[in-house]
Amino acid sequence: MRLRKLKNVDERLQARQDIVVFAPEKYKGKWREVFGNDNPIYLEIGMGKGKFIIEHAHRYPDINFIGLEKEKSVLVKAVEKVEVRPSNLLMISADAINILNMFDQNEITKIFLNFSDPWPKSRHTKRRLTYGSNLSNYQKILVDDGTIAFKTDNRHLFEFSVINFTLEGFKILDLSLNLHEDKEDIITTEYEDRFTEKGNIIYYIEVKNGKNEIV
Ligand code: SAH
Repeated sequence: MRLRKLKNVDERLQARQDIVVFAPEKYKGKWREVFGNDNPIYLEIGMGKGKFIIEHAHRYPDINFIGLEKEKSVLVKAVEKVEVRPSNLLMISADAINILNMFDQNEITKIFLNFSDPWPKSRHTKRRLTYGSNLSNYQKILVDDGTIAFKTDNRHLFEFSVINFTLEGFKILDLSLNLHEDKEDIITTEYEDRFTEKGNIIYYIEVKNGKNEIV
């Protein structure tokens, strides 16, 4: 039963090679050629079911968007939300652990981390997408004044992330302890909608790459 379900997911993804990239390493340093223009590239790591990145692609046609998702059974839901691929949207089937093999220096202008897995146990700290070594990987692929926007309803992960951004030399551009009260016209994610309905508060931080600044 389980095998049949998985096989089906693979087939459904293979049928959508118009939007899914299975071997992103092939395009390291070449994403501008892939999109066929020099527009900035924004990357969502842990895209989930895709609502956020798909809505961004429609709202901002002069920006290229890439959604990265490691779970194929989740990725397929994002893929199948898109009937006709907007020319500024691609989705990658891969684990962010290999991100330095996928993107070259200065290739990405903005990274979104939305409702990243909290990995609450301290022995799993390194798996958090805002762990120090992950942040320093992001610095390597971001342009000099590139930014990272992070939102979560998990207070502990938020505090952990704020500290790590600061330790890694990022500069805070914006921070909210209640995003939905502070900002209007937000493009939400599937998790965000679910948590907001439950009454959870959403925390938000946007930081700027500070790798060339003297702290
Ligand atoms: N951003 C979406 C999903 C949040 S859940 C939303 O807000 O609705 C976190 C997602 O990140 C999951 O789909 C999980 O599979 C994905 N993910 C976690 N670690 C990842 C990694 N290392 N590389 C790629 N995707 C990852």
